[in-house]
Amino acid sequence: MVKDNLKIVEENIRQACLRAGRDLSEVTLISVSKTKPVEMIEEAYEYGKREFGENKAQELKEKYEVLPKDIRWHFIGHLQTNKIKYIIDRACLIHSVDSLHLAEAIEKECVKRDTEADILVEVNVAQEESKFGLKLEDTLALVQQISRLEHLHIKGLMTIAPFVEDPEENRSIFRQLKQLSVDIGAKNIDNVDMSVLSMGMTGDYQVAIEEGATHVRVGTGIFGERNYDIK
Ligand SMILES: *Cc1c(COP(=O)(O)O)cnc(C)c1O
Repeated sequence: MVKDNLKIVEENIRQACLRAGRDLSEVTLISVSKTKPVEMIEEAYEYGKREFGENKAQELKEKYEVLPKDIRWHFIGHLQTNKIKYIIDRACLIHSVDSLHLAEAIEKECVKRDTEADILVEVNVAQEESKFGLKLEDTLALVQQISRLEHLHIKGLMTIAPFVEDPEENRSIFRQLKQLSVDIGAKNIDNVDMSVLSMGMTGDYQVAIEEGATHVRVGTGIFGERNYDIK
């Protein structure tokens, strides 16, 4: 089942790239495995997938310990400072940095362990109250502040778009994030690179790719609905 779903998602990605005149190699599919058992991740791994996303620090750590070490784990959830220790040196990219306080705490943990971390800054483009992330207009200032932290490397921006029936409704959200990344990139800030644009989920990843996403995060479309009761 996971493999069949992956085939469908990959074909949809291919079509979206064609429509947008983009090369398939520009888009990374992150299989969002949160709440899902190790067996399902193994099925995706056997199919060839190596990029997985988790939104709970402890769950990422537990899965990291038992699964092959060539998996690239993406941390996509809200990160509490006391959980940073679980994902440093385990996650290849932290998608969800949205405050200087959090960035400084990650920096501190990196210093302690003599390591570094790649991060994205999370932007709440739609300004939904229920979601984490910065306002568009506050993003540049935070990027500038974080750029001074020597053990952190900003690789780009991330957003979680609203849940909508028609993915077209999110097109302008994706376009605004892309524009912001171009604007920030043009400033050539030291230690800041805007090559990653993490946007698009099961309901809207094709539109996100048309608007420039480099990383799409697909959970339900690959692993099926999540049941938070039995997990
Ligand atoms: C759960 C989650 C996803 C995947 O959502 P689906 O709609 O199941 O594809 C993507 N991004 C983040 C940040 C998530 O928490």
